[in-house]
Amino acid sequence: MDNNLFGKNLNDITAICKRVKIGKGTAKELFRYIYRKGESDFSKMDLLSEKARGILSENFQITTTSFIDVQTSVDGTKKYLFKYGDNKFVETAYIPEADRATLCISCQMGCKMGCSFCFTAKQGFQCDLSVAEIINQLHSIPERSKVTNIVFMGMGEPFDNIENIFAAIDILSDHNGYSLAQTRITVSTIGIILGMKRLLETTACKLAISLHNPISEERRSIMPVEKVHTIENIKGFLQTLAKKDQQRVFFEYIVFNNLNHSDNHVQQLANILHGLACKINLIKYNTAPDSEFTSPTDDIIEAFQKKLINRGIVTTYRRSRGEDIFAACGLLSTKSKINKPLK
Ligand code: SF4
Repeated sequence: MDNNLFGKNLNDITAICKRVKIGKGTAKELFRYIYRKGESDFSKMDLLSEKARGILSENFQITTTSFIDVQTSVDGTKKYLFKYGDNKFVETAYIPEADRATLCISCQMGCKMGCSFCFTAKQGFQCDLSVAEIINQLHSIPERSKVTNIVFMGMGEPFDNIENIFAAIDILSDHNGYSLAQTRITVSTIGIILGMKRLLETTACKLAISLHNPISEERRSIMPVEKVHTIENIKGFLQTLAKKDQQRVFFEYIVFNNLNHSDNHVQQLANILHGLACKINLIKYNTAPDSEFTSPTDDIIEAFQKKLINRGIVTTYRRSRGEDIFAACGLLSTKSKINKPLK
């Protein structure tokens, strides 16, 4: 049996308390101590009975994992590196802004999806992260209490680790957990319909779909997943949603220099978005070492944005953060894995 209580949801903890006969009422308080108060020492859990504290200390522990490295950008973005096993590294980015602080967390070590522009893909797939390893990325950073928003946009495809993602969302949003409103949690997917449907039906979280190119053959050339989860299927699914749910969805669109910002791309995006209440969020590609892709200028992106807006598409442009500390997803952990010195 796994004796680490960190990562267990309220149902698991309730079942454990029942099994070791320390009362159902203890479970909620214990859950609150672990996540909301961040207490890992049972002897300091004053609101639990002495008997409960004794039984818990004898049989269980609350184990979290500290980060092993952090890099801070000139713009305040921080990139944390966690080591969860032998040669297994996970990245988490903390992005402070004037009115919010967003934590970008990872859900897998490596990724199976093989997007050609992504450093995580170059690692191949190593394993899914457990619920504990997912929420530890929030729990074990000094800015934990400052985080207002969570985005599952780090390493991995969230809906390829679907049960752990939903369990993590439960703990993150539970009032006795980290108490983050689900409307402030965004899950980013390459377009796995089953996961998107479940997210929209069972949570209030937002959904981001990585599109990056509206032309199927071109998308397939940078995202092999287009062979299975096609733009057409994604659009078909979005058309079945009520307008209020469509408004919870946005497309992420990384702009690569000379690749996906032509007038034809504007036209094809307008075709996809026609009749949908979804938005597009443009992201500038961050130039990375050894990459075949290059960054467009801000002028190029702004011109592209203007053309989309002129077609009636709500289009935002999220300026890249932390460029000076290798914000490209997967780059930091890839460097660690191959034992190159961190910048
Ligand atoms: S971009 Fe996302 S889905 Fe694609 S390989 Fe990278 S982590 Fe996986």
